Amino acid sequence: MSSGTTRRQAGRSGRRRWPALLALLNPVALYRKRPARPDDPPPEALIGKGVRFVNRIYMLRAIGLGIGFFCVAAGFVQNPVDWPLWALLVFHGFIWPHAARHWALRSEIPYRAERRNLIIDAGFGGFWMAAMNGNLVPSAVIISMLSMDNIAAGGVRLFMRGVWASIACFLLGWLVLDYRFMPQSDIATIVACLPMLALYPLALGKSTYDMSKKLAERSREFEVVSQMDGLTRLFNRRYWESLLIEEFERCRRNAGRSGHDACLLLLDLDHFKNINDTHGHLVGDEVLRNFSQLLRSRLREDDLIGRYGGEEFVVILRNTSAADALLLSQRLIDEARERKSGDDSLWGCTVSAGLVPFTPDMDAHYVWLQRADHAMYCAKEKGRDCLVAWDAGLHRAQAKAAADARAA
Ligand code: GH3
Ligand code: MG
Ligand code: MG
Repeated sequence: MSSGTTRRQAGRSGRRRWPALLALLNPVALYRKRPARPDDPPPEALIGKGVRFVNRIYMLRAIGLGIGFFCVAAGFVQNPVDWPLWALLVFHGFIWPHAARHWALRSEIPYRAERRNLIIDAGFGGFWMAAMNGNLVPSAVIISMLSMDNIAAGGVRLFMRGVWASIACFLLGWLVLDYRFMPQSDIATIVACLPMLALYPLALGKSTYDMSKKLAERSREFEVVSQMDGLTRLFNRRYWESLLIEEFERCRRNAGRSGHDACLLLLDLDHFKNINDTHGHLVGDEVLRNFSQLLRSRLREDDLIGRYGGEEFVVILRNTSAADALLLSQRLIDEARERKSGDDSLWGCTVSAGLVPFTPDMDAHYVWLQRADHAMYCAKEKGRDCLVAWDAGLHRAQAKAAADARAA
């Protein structure tokens, strides 16, 4: 890319950033409902969302406002106020946290209601600043704790909304109350603010840590689920193919060294469609699950088993010689057949399979897969219920078939 293009792009993104920044300084734009984006969830999907968020903020609000009460109370003792302000302070410190939770949980979208409650908190903060005549230490402590809450809960946008709510309520307090600017904080007021300074960041930090731990657990669970096939709990095709690529590269790096062999086994249930047609899809699903269980129980932890699609299964037999893989694969096919006269958990299904040891002449992982596919189809042609292993004869036959196809 030319440096001119890069400069133009940087200029464009800079131009895009300015309106976004200006919108944060504009209370009308901040409070206006943002236009819907194509990836927004439908409104009905939001109903009932945010209960955990409400409960988390409830705990923080109960602690923060409970301790914050003493900061403002100290300011009121230093510059005495009338009883209605004391009553409002008691309400805000000890009743509002419970009322706010109740209110949010009863709303249609608790998450949205809780964000509104956070803005109300910020508004209260501005009002207390005016009521304390700008007493510097409790005002700074309260405003910074409330801002910390808002930025942690809703990012810069919620923080800026809170700032505007604080400014508006400060001005309201100024107008309504007999405001005189008296920023000095006496020592008793400063001491009363210390618990808030020491304890509240701890509570917020702990809550944030718990949340990020839960998030990490969720993302680990999600990662596992995204690698699995839902029906059989084996690796799904996409993830298994990524493992095949890794294994292929590993084999290529270690080619020629003993103990680093690997074989690819492709298994297909014979006439599986008949099971569905005769007994229904639920029985078909049961057969797929039982066959997966058979594979899991007979193979090692190290072997990578996947469901390639429908009734096709794939296994990377790691660190396994061709001779061992042949024995193991044949045993699997025999066991599936023997189940007919045993528990019949496969409902009479037999298995055809193709086995291909890694050889360095393969250009890419898909060549390995193509060979396994070819070997498996040879097993089908041989009458099913058998194993075909890749050998020089198959190699020649496949090369000839490919050449014929190119010539045609
Ligand atoms: P062949 O011996 O040649 O492999 O014949 P087949 O019947 O096993 O193979 P075919 O490809 O004709 O049919 C596979 C069937 O597997 C068709 C499809 O409906 C069924 N199938 C694919 N996925 C599932 C599934 O998840 N559950 C069930 N019950 N059936 C499935
Ligand atoms: Mg089949
Ligand atoms: Mg098939």
